[in-house]
Amino acid sequence: MRILFLTLCTVACAFTNPQINAIRLLSSRLVLPPLVVVHDVVMKEGFAFTDASRIHVYIDAHKLRCCPNTFHNVVAHELHHTMGAEHTDNTPVMKYAVQTTRDGLVFEDSFKFDM
Ligand SMILES: [Zn+2]
Repeated sequence: MRILFLTLCTVACAFTNPQINAIRLLSSRLVLPPLVVVHDVVMKEGFAFTDASRIHVYIDAHKLRCCPNTFHNVVAHELHHTMGAEHTDNTPVMKYAVQTTRDGLVFEDSFKFDM
């Protein structure tokens, strides 16, 4: 059922053009495994994750549409997961987390990871 839900949301959702450009830019600069797919999905909690196969990256683009730098950094973090990076790697991109208010509003980052 969860797979069906994610599939339906993938069809219904869409990245904005600046978000697509960010994904393409980062994908071209990183050495990704073949066939990595970045999906826009509706997520009840959180902003993004990479599945255990390290092939599928799921991002709730709507939650991040106001914050292009934050979106860029989220994509960079998730694409590093597809390359095998872990949170315990202690690199800036893997220690990265989206900053929010108590109400869940996303802060725009003042920087973008340079890949
Ligand atoms: Zn992560």
